[in-house]
Formats: sequence, structure tokens, C-alpha cells
Amino acid sequence: MATGKINVSVENIFPLIKKFLYSDHEIFLRELVSNATDATLKLKHLTSIGEAQVEYGNPIIEIKVDKDNKKIHIIDQGIGMTEAEVKKYINEVAFSGAEEFLDKYKDSGKDTGIIGHFGLGFYSAFMVAEKVEIVTKSFKDEPAVRWVCDGSPEFELSEADKTERGTEIILHVAEDSTEFLEEARIRTLLTKYNKFMPIPIKFGTRTETLPKPEGAKEDDPAPTKEVDDIINNPNPAWTKKPTDLEAEDYKSFYRELYPMQFEEPLFHIHLNVDYPFNLTGILYFPKLTNDLNIQKDKIQLYQNQVFVTDNVEGIVPEFLTMLRGVIDSPDIPLNVSRSYLQADGAVKKISSYITKKVADKLSSLFKNNREDFESKWNDIKVVIEYGMLSEDKFFDKADKFALYPTVDGKYYTFEELIEKVKDNQTDKDNKTVLLYASNTEEQHSYTEAAKAKGYEVLLLDSPIVAHLLQKLETSKENISFARVDADHVDNLIKKEEETISKLSDDEKEALKGELEKVLGEKSSYTVQLEAMDSNAQPFMITEPEFMRRMKD
Ligand code: ADP
Ligand code: MG
Repeated sequence: MATGKINVSVENIFPLIKKFLYSDHEIFLRELVSNATDATLKLKHLTSIGEAQVEYGNPIIEIKVDKDNKKIHIIDQGIGMTEAEVKKYINEVAFSGAEEFLDKYKDSGKDTGIIGHFGLGFYSAFMVAEKVEIVTKSFKDEPAVRWVCDGSPEFELSEADKTERGTEIILHVAEDSTEFLEEARIRTLLTKYNKFMPIPIKFGTRTETLPKPEGAKEDDPAPTKEVDDIINNPNPAWTKKPTDLEAEDYKSFYRELYPMQFEEPLFHIHLNVDYPFNLTGILYFPKLTNDLNIQKDKIQLYQNQVFVTDNVEGIVPEFLTMLRGVIDSPDIPLNVSRSYLQADGAVKKISSYITKKVADKLSSLFKNNREDFESKWNDIKVVIEYGMLSEDKFFDKADKFALYPTVDGKYYTFEELIEKVKDNQTDKDNKTVLLYASNTEEQHSYTEAAKAKGYEVLLLDSPIVAHLLQKLETSKENISFARVDADHVDNLIKKEEETISKLSDDEKEALKGELEKVLGEKSSYTVQLEAMDSNAQPFMITEPEFMRRMKD
């Protein structure tokens, strides 16, 4: 047995870690399962490039709670550690073996999905444990080792009798953390943080019902068998190529994400980019009501399939926080404050990429199936209107597919609407006036009166639309919105009909001659032919104002 001193400059770092490193004690499990996953992925990589001459097999990670002895075990079948590696990776706090690995296998290892990078995750174990044991056996042909540390900078290192490859972490749970000895609590944590991690995670067993054997009687009980209870889906939909997924796969992944949500999503957007930043994910448009208190914070943020948070504020624009789904990016710096996050260049790019993808998806739905898009409008308008109001870039794109429904159930884009009403709904300042009702029942008689005059009446009843109208009035030329029961609606004018004269130029000249003859040569009247082109009258005879007054 050997003893040594953990290599940190601060005399006793553990109280500090316990207090300040992570505000949430529960993340210790996420960190330890992440390390177990990394150890397994490293072995996978080394066997695939021939650097480890061992069978990779079908490794799993197992979590066990031993309430009687107040212990939690996290067991993996990954690369394990030699004595030298324990000294190097464990005893040097804030030295990340994950980063070192990625550095060493820069080219071949960049898609391994390895999680760790700060070199602090392991020590989060001391947030809940008064003593931590590591029993580990490297895939290399070296004896297994046991490391024990009770939270002081002193540790013990000795040979162990472990024969299978991999690492077992044993937490001796502290008195103030016994909540983590409850099986239900651990299961909740595993489901929250590890539900989509890439290596199967076993937590106990469950009873599986098998099909009845042939010839079994009606009331014979179906046979059962105990199987590993694997709590995660190691291959979630967002990690797959969009071309490998069917519509049904997206729907079933939605149910996996929100087991309590019975309504199906309207459509999805698969995010997949690896330059200039790495990001994958699937966003869903749920049916949204007019109620602005809709539950936000439904988008989950992951890093390499490890759940991080469901608060994506600062990462996606606010109007998209109404959507649901998953974003996975190792490029989002999460150990910083939200305000710093919003100023971060990479995060800004991520945010505008997501906005663009959402706009593009909506635009293609609009173009490919207008009827279907119209039928969904009421369920998606809140997001679109809110986006148009708050993000100028989104406004520019959405302006082409945002719809303005009428009380009669027609749907116009803005351009179509103007085209439709511009000749019929003009005010004295020559602005095109767009009429709308916000409540069809209360404004029924006004709406009917306006329709009787041939006006189009929009039905704009979302809570955001009033603000959007203001924005449209300032950003579009020569239009104004008026509620159908406003006073000046009575004073709208039709633009004068343009009747183009059917006479040819020669015929016009002849007509002018004839008229002048009738009026007499010295007449003060003039015949205006220009009027023929723009007015309903065939011609116009005018008399100068002074001549008219002289006669009075
Ligand atoms: P990080 O994961 O950021 O590298 P950690 O503090 O979580 O930092 O872990 C430190 C190092 O300890 C890891 O990089 C790895 O080399 C080693 N380690 C931790 N857990 C295991 C494990 N289960 N199997 C093998 N090595 C491990
Ligand atoms: Mg780690």
C-alpha cells in the first residue's frame, strides 16, 4: 500500500468543491456516468483503430444503490486505469484526461462523442460522499488498483483483486445526502440527465412478459423473465441522419421526450450542422393556443447526449422558446452567466442559424402545401407573429408567408391582401386602409356593413397582432390598419376607375376639331383631351377661372 498527497495548491479543496463548484448536488451522478461513458467510448475508439487488442463487445454501465450500506456503485466496462493513470488523472485535480485524449487523437477521435473537458467532474462525487473508492482495471495487462479518499487531500492507493476490465466507483454517501440512497430519486436523476446517453445504462432489472407458448390455455399466465432495466435510448433520433428517419420516427421521438404530452406535434425541424459550429437537434412546433402563458422551457439542451438544462434562454431567440425538442451542441459554453452567453459570438451564430432554419421550414411548408399551411395557421401564428415583432431578420422572411385571415375564412399574404383591396379601400390621404375585426361577435354589425360595401375584413385576434400591426404600419409604405368599428371606415373611397379611351390618336384630334367648331373660335373654353385617358368622361371642356368670374 502506498499513500500520497493529491496535487493541488489549495490546502483543502474539497470543502470548496462541495460548496461552490456546482450549485446542484444532484449532478454528481451525471458527471460519474459521463466519465463511465467516456471510458467506454475511449475503448471503442482504441479498438476501432487497432490500438487496443481486446474485444469491445457490448459494454454497459451499471448503477447500483445499496441503501443498507449507504453506498452507490457506478460500474463500467471501459478502458479502466493503471496505477500510473490513477495518479495522473485522479490525483491531479483540474487535469482533464478527456481533453488529453481528444488532443492525442485529434483527427481520428473528433467524432467519438467524448464528454469531459474540465477535469473537475470526478470531484463532484465529494458533494454527496464522505468517502470515495475507485476500483479499476485497465484494458492493458496490468494489475487492478484501488484508490480511496475520504475528502481530505490524503488518499490511499493499493492493489485490488478486480479481474474484469473497467472501473467501479463506490460512493460512501454522507449523512446530509442520504436522499440519494432512495432508488426512486436515482431513477429520476438517470431519466433526467442520462436518458439519451450513448452507452446502455442498467439500473436494476424489470419483469418482461413473454409470448405464451403454443398450445397454452386461455387462462394460463403468460411466462415472464427478469431482464436488465436499461433506462436510456443510446441512439436518439436527433443523432441520426434526417434521410434515415420517417415521419413516424419523429413522432415517436416526440412521445419519448414528452411522455405526458398526448397531442401530436404539427411538424418538426431537424437541425444538423458541423461548421462553423457543431449542432444537432430536432425542434417541434406544438399546437399553440392564444394564451401567452404557454409553457416555455420545453426545449432541452444537451451536450454530447448528456442533458444539461431546459432553460435555453439566451441560446435560442425568445420567440422560439415556445417550441419543443432538443438541441445538442458541445460548442455552447455553459459555465458562464446567461448575459455573457448572449454576447458570445458562437452562441449568436447558433441563435441565428436556428432562426433561419425555422423560417426556411415555414417557408417551404407554405410553398409546398398552401392549404395545409393555412389549416395550421391558427396553431402556429403566435410564434410567427412574435418572431416578426422581435427579430427583424425573421420578419423579412416571414413577411412572405405570414397569413392574414379574413372573417370569411380566406387567408391572404400581405402582398395578396394589398393587391386585393388597394383599389377599393383608400382614405383621403390616399393610404390603403386594411380593416380588421378583433372580435367577430361584438363587431358583427360593423363587419357586415363593411362587407356589404365590398370591403375585406380581417380577423386578427391574437394577443400579439396589435403590436405587429404597428410594426407593419411603420415598415410598409402607404398603408394603415383600422378596426372595422372605427369612425373613418365610413369615409373610405374607391380609387377612380381608370377607363382608357377607346379612341385612337387621330380620332381624338378629329373630335377636338369638331368640338372647337361648336364652341366657336373665340371661345374662352378649351378642350382637354388628356382627360380622356385617365377619367371616365370621354373629354373635358374647361374655362379659365378668371373668365368664369367675369361672367358672374
Ligand atoms: P474530465 O472528464 O473532464 O476529463 P473528470 O474529473 O471527470 O474530468 O475525470 C478526470 C479523469 O479521470 C478523466 O479524464 C479520466 O481520464 C479519468 N477517469 C474518471 N473516471 C473514469 C472511469 N470511469 N474510467 C476511466 N477513467 C476515468
Ligand atoms: Mg468527466
